[in-house]
Parts: sequence; structure tokens; C-alpha cells
Amino acid sequence: EKPSWALSAGQPPAVSQQPGTVYAHVGQSFASRAYDVLIVGAGRMGAALAWQLRQRAPHLSLLLAEEGGLPNEEGATILASGVWHSDVPDEQRERAERTRALLGERLQPCGVLTLSEQGGVPPSVPYPASLADAAVLPGLRLDPRGGVYSPASVTLDAGQQAVRLGADLMLNVRCELRGGGQVALHRLSVTNTHQVVVDHTVTVTAAQVVIASGAAGPHLIENGLGQPTRHRQAYRQLPRLNVPSGPDSPVVRACGFVLRPHSGGYVVTPPILHPDPWGYQPVGGRLAGVPVGLRREVVDSLLPHLEALPALASEALVVGRSSADIPGAWLALPEGGWPRWDRLDEQHVLLLGGPHADLTGLAVAEELAEALAQG
Ligand code: ADP
Repeated sequence: EKPSWALSAGQPPAVSQQPGTVYAHVGQSFASRAYDVLIVGAGRMGAALAWQLRQRAPHLSLLLAEEGGLPNEEGATILASGVWHSDVPDEQRERAERTRALLGERLQPCGVLTLSEQGGVPPSVPYPASLADAAVLPGLRLDPRGGVYSPASVTLDAGQQAVRLGADLMLNVRCELRGGGQVALHRLSVTNTHQVVVDHTVTVTAAQVVIASGAAGPHLIENGLGQPTRHRQAYRQLPRLNVPSGPDSPVVRACGFVLRPHSGGYVVTPPILHPDPWGYQPVGGRLAGVPVGLRREVVDSLLPHLEALPALASEALVVGRSSADIPGAWLALPEGGWPRWDRLDEQHVLLLGGPHADLTGLAVAEELAEALAQG
């Protein structure tokens, strides 16, 4: 049976609640007040937590605060490959299965092919010949339970459901931790020369502050609470590969890459090879002031794998002419690699998704909601 809040389309929430208020821009005045819970960041982790908290603990007042939109165009959520498969370590299996159940009908079934080190190629495996010759590949496994979904639309949906169930949502606000449950809300606006500036600042207090700020989370905590962290960050870009894919094409996982069929081609998610390049700013071409093209570390990550995936060395790989061709974003790397939450002190909790949030992120957000609901 599906959990009551599974993300199945079109089902109205069971709980009757007054909807919360959305503060989208600085023109909407906000009277500072105390909240039970304040979530910093409305990426997929923060939005999922907000929705589950409204379901489990409607008595707790909640503010979901986000620097950009829902989800932010520069966040990891919008860039995630949105692939679910069952190739996870035993200790993550239950979470992966729970995430799959929570995704419900949002997950479109689609075989996931994994290129492994040993074993032969089963003749039944529908390997896309355009990517590489299956005969030269060492081994393939097909996961028939795999599937794909859109993390961005799951996030939008979760945020909207949270508001419908009474959460307040503030967009275009940069949060700064002040300690003791105090958070400065720097409300942002854009000047007529397109600069983002702080319009005004309001301070709110919350009994519990959840930092669900993706790659920015560890820094927010170091700066605001003075707590060092072992989590890191990495930069990721998703080039497009123009080899033909159709509705029945499988996802292919090989050499740390994930190739997801998308609009007739593939989206390439490279492995993470350059964690936390200290002081690194992505460099590459610029066109009309906008960074374009593949960043150096993305090219580095491709080079060792061209033999196994020769399509990556062909003209089919889009290296970028406009910024829209190859979006890139910073990604949190939780210690241990898997989504997790950590209690930092009595009033602050860190919630991190990271590269495996597609697989277990919703389950971890659910666990934190449960813990907060129980007080
Ligand atoms: P995750 O997969 O962990 O949810 P994302 O990067 O998609 O990661 O989400 C984190 C969100 O947190 C982003 O949308 C980002 O804009 C937001 N964020 C980061 N720092 C702040 C901040 N100081 N105040 C408000 N929102 C923030």
C-alpha cells in the first residue's frame, strides 16, 4: 500500500489546513515572528522535509526559506539526473525502497543497465548500440525495477503541498545563521542593472533550524555557528550526448557515469572526481559575459573512460555554445557519500542530499520529519 503522502499526482492532501503565506518578493511585507521550525533551502531535501513535517506535525509552525526560486535554478536539485536503481549497499537498501515508494507514480519505469567489471553480456540486454559495442564491454546487468523522474518537479510539488498544508514560504531570501535559533533573513531584490542586492533584513527565531542548503550548508554552519564540518562540495556539469534514444531506451551506468535518455538523446552525469577544489571557480569559455562550455574537471573526468564509452569522444557530445547547453552547479558531498541528517546542537540540524539523493533523499527527509515531529 502506498504511504499516505506518496507523491501521486492529483491526490488532494487528507488533512484540512489553512494554507500558508508565500512571500515571493520584497514588496510583500513580512512581520517577524517566531516559528517552531525554519528550513533554510528549498531544494529537494528542504522541500520534502517541509511537506512531510506538515503531514506529521501540523501543530508546528513552519517557514521554508529559499535564496532563489522553487527549486533554485543554480541548485543541485535541478541538475540531478533523477535516476533510481536498486544497486545500493545493504545498509541503504531499506531507504532506497522507501524513497521508491514515496515517489509513487512519479517514477517512470525504465530499465537501468549497469556496466560491471565481471560477467558476460546477457543476450537479452537491450544495450544501445550507439553508445558502445556491447561485445567489447566486460559485463552488463539489467535492473528491471529502475526508473527515472524529475527531481525539480517533485521539489516544486512538495513545496506547493507544504504551503497548501500551512507552511509559510519565503523566496528570494538569503538566510544567515546567528546562533541560538536566530536567523537573519536578508530579503533580496534585483536592481535595474541586474545586480542582486539586499533590500532589507528581518531576524526571526525558530525553536529548530534545519540547514537544507545543499553545497552551501557546511559553509553556512562554519560561518554562522563556528562549527567545522567534514562535509565537502564539488562542481558538476551535465553535458548532452546526441546519440539517439527512444521511449524504451534504458539508463546506462558505466565507469561512474550515468547516461539518462532525454528528449531523443542522453544527458550525461559525470562521476565526481574533484571534491572541494579549494578556492576553485569553474573556468571555461565566456560568451557575452556568461560562462559557456565544459569546465576543465568535467573534461578530465571524461578522458579515462573514452575506451569503454567511445560515444563520449565523438561529435555527439555537446560541449556547449550557450550557457543553457551545459548547466553546472555546486553539489554537497556528505561525509560517507549518502544523504543524511546530523544534529549540530539543540536548535540546529544539518540535512544533506548530495550525489545519491535520487536514491534515498526522500527517505532521509522523512526520517528527520519523524524525529522533529516527536520533539
Ligand atoms: P539539495 O539536493 O540538498 O536539496 P540543492 O542545492 O538543490 O540541494 O538545494 C539547496 C537550496 O538551498 C538551494 O535551492 C539554494 O538556493 C538554497 N540556499 C543555499 N544557501 C542558502 C541561504 N543562505 N539562504 C537560503 N537558501 C539557501
